[in-house]
Amino acid sequence: MRSDESYISRRALGVDASGIRKVFDLAAKMKDPINFSIGLPDFDVPEAAKEAAIEAIRAGNNRYTQTQGIAPLRERLRKDLSAEIGRDVGDVLITSGVSGGLLLAILAVIDPGDEAIFLDPYFVMYKHLLAVVGGKPVIVDSYPDFRFPAEKIERAVTPRTKMLMLNSPCNPTGAVMSEADVRAAVDIARRHDLLILSDEIYEPFLYGAMGTDKSFASSASAPLPSPARIYEKTIILRGFSKSHAMTGWRLGYAAGPEAIISQMTKLQQYTFVCAPSPLQYAALKALDVPMGDAVEAYRRKRDLVVAGLAPRFEIVEPQGAFYIFPKAPAGASASEFVTKAIENNVLIIPGNVFSERDTHFRISYATTDEKIARGCEILRSLVR
Ligand code: PMP
Repeated sequence: MRSDESYISRRALGVDASGIRKVFDLAAKMKDPINFSIGLPDFDVPEAAKEAAIEAIRAGNNRYTQTQGIAPLRERLRKDLSAEIGRDVGDVLITSGVSGGLLLAILAVIDPGDEAIFLDPYFVMYKHLLAVVGGKPVIVDSYPDFRFPAEKIERAVTPRTKMLMLNSPCNPTGAVMSEADVRAAVDIARRHDLLILSDEIYEPFLYGAMGTDKSFASSASAPLPSPARIYEKTIILRGFSKSHAMTGWRLGYAAGPEAIISQMTKLQQYTFVCAPSPLQYAALKALDVPMGDAVEAYRRKRDLVVAGLAPRFEIVEPQGAFYIFPKAPAGASASEFVTKAIENNVLIIPGNVFSERDTHFRISYATTDEKIARGCEILRSLVR
């Protein structure tokens, strides 16, 4: 008789989630921790969007939508994105979160053996989604400054390389690619005819350097240097999870070369079917809510966490998102330091969840100013 386990595919067995599970197991035992582990904003969904969701449900928008999403939302996003990047982005596909967009893009593009390059540290899903489809993750180290390492990337390209995956602002480092970095990435992509997959889920959270120009409060005044502006073979992935604190609503969108978006749409038809219907109507409303104050609040929190850690930790000042990725103190692995922090009631994530290295740890500073201050104080006290 076969054991239940023996039915499990090699594909599923190849996904190792043990690192993050260990953290969650430890966290479950904590009472009212200072929680620096949460990858979502600490503000609530804008009232107008909540109202619009309820309204949409009451109005009967509870059925499947078109696979690609409702027309008014797609049109609005097409108009906004096209204005931002300076050319028509084509039809926009509404996805089930950026995660949905990532899966569909990888399914549409990557054949077994195809290589996709991305930077270490990376968003965890990239490595595993590529492996699930039989693709080869080619992971290029960006320590210690987390800048785009153009020469290393160039050297990592092989005849099997199909895609360069970028994530700016970055989870877990908060690094933002400069225009020059983006140009360097696009030069490589052009030279080797690569597709760029640009994960821009943190696009509104841009702060610039501390103590310098404070005028980058919203994406309208200082749009993200997206590779899509200068390279048409770019798939842009964006979403509402972070920008509007709607992680549970599962809404994202994709734009890019028509041939690829149409394949992603076909694959959505047989997987996700469509993104949640009433919430698509609500997202349309959410786009009219100014979020500049939230971004401004996060810039201040960034400044607080940098000031709180700089005296004792080696850090790279984040320019976006709401994460910082400090180096663990010398003498211990990052995992050991994380265990110590958890014993002291501060929940942080070991860097090896996002990296081939076990030298850093991730803090999400999307929490109250008071918790940031107290958490940093405790972390400082753990460094001898
Ligand atoms: N990309 C990055 C870089 C992320 O950090 C996340 C969420 N943590 C996602 C994609 C997926 O987001 P969602 O599916 O909620 O839109």
